[in-house]
Amino acid sequence: MLTVAEAHEAIARCVAPLPPTRVPLSDLLGLRLAADVTATLDSPPFDKSVVDGYAIATTDASPALHEVELITAGGVPSQPLRPGATIRVMTGAPVPAGADAVVKWEDCQVLGDGSIRNPAAQVKPGLCILRRGAAFHAGEVLLTAGRRLGPLEIALLAEMGCAVASAVPRPRVGVLPTGDELVEPGQPAGPGKIRNSNGPMLAALLAAAGMTSVNLGVGRDDPADLCEKMARGLEQCDVLLVSGGVSAGVKDLVPGVLAELGVTEQFHSVRVKPGKPLWFGTLPHDRGRPSRLVFGLPGNPVSTLVSFRLFVLSALRALAGEPYAAPSTEAATLASPITHRGQRPTYHPCRSSRDGGGRCIEPLPWKGSADIATLTRADCLAALPQGDYELAPGDAVQVLAL
Ligand code: AMP
Ligand code: MG
Repeated sequence: MLTVAEAHEAIARCVAPLPPTRVPLSDLLGLRLAADVTATLDSPPFDKSVVDGYAIATTDASPALHEVELITAGGVPSQPLRPGATIRVMTGAPVPAGADAVVKWEDCQVLGDGSIRNPAAQVKPGLCILRRGAAFHAGEVLLTAGRRLGPLEIALLAEMGCAVASAVPRPRVGVLPTGDELVEPGQPAGPGKIRNSNGPMLAALLAAAGMTSVNLGVGRDDPADLCEKMARGLEQCDVLLVSGGVSAGVKDLVPGVLAELGVTEQFHSVRVKPGKPLWFGTLPHDRGRPSRLVFGLPGNPVSTLVSFRLFVLSALRALAGEPYAAPSTEAATLASPITHRGQRPTYHPCRSSRDGGGRCIEPLPWKGSADIATLTRADCLAALPQGDYELAPGDAVQVLAL
């Protein structure tokens, strides 16, 4: 049985960023750039007015200036500015040749004949003009490969005129809960049946992580049904998440069927609680497709959640172009005592509060791997090392945020 650290090493050896694709701007949020992006134009592309006002030449000594033209944003001046004249410009309009300042209309005095009193004596050259290339110049590398794209990076790409960019795509992740006992949430549950909570939970975890989930239905505990659904998942997806059917029961058929489909087992079971039966394997790359990852998650919903948070998320982020990283923990202190027994490190659900800047956690009375209800009150998992011991209030523990 692997330790948590060994399981991460095994996964890290099998993951590489997905091949880059051309992605339209509207789908880039959260993705990582696969190549540097260089500006092909200056921004702004022309000297532009940043106010609604009058374009003037500060060297013009005429007592009054006559308005000869009005330019709104998107327009272009039809003439250069001549002595004794002003061109009215709205915010965003190009500043005409011959003008070296724009004076806000509120600061100008309109005379009886419609001309304005020349404000040049009080104005410094450059007033209210954003010079061409003030933000960036053609040829500058503005975003580098590996950069994660948030709203501002997307705005910058738009400003540069990039309608598409080369990015590492979002992994497509197939979700296949398995078990003869499973009934969909909207349907009546007959004797011996329970609701499929892993399917909706995994779809939601994937959406929250910015991944694309593919619903593969619910697999029966039947080799032919599992084979058909898992083959479809491997065909359509980069990653397959199967839940249930990976322990040692007579109906735990998932590893055997995956082997028949050519998926190589990398490990089966990790020294961790909950989530011990976790299965991980890879389908080698073929026909130009990169290798696919398969996680067999233990069926109990809390085990599924902890396995996802501890292992699956790291693998998905690495496929999406991030350096592989095990989830980081942070320090906290216990608010009440907790007892640990056994040789597997335990991730125990806790609720945290802030205590003078530090994080203080209350272990929740947890009823085991099927108890999702208690998990809804938790916001973190205390990572309790293996061994038999008691911890007292005030003792330090590491926690994993949920
Ligand atoms: P298994 O890993 O298939 O042995 O399942 C372990 C436990 O998790 C059993 O009690 C199952 O009924 C339960 N379980 C399996 N799959 C799901 C699911 N999709 N939603 C809720 N519980 C499940
Ligand atoms: Mg089962």
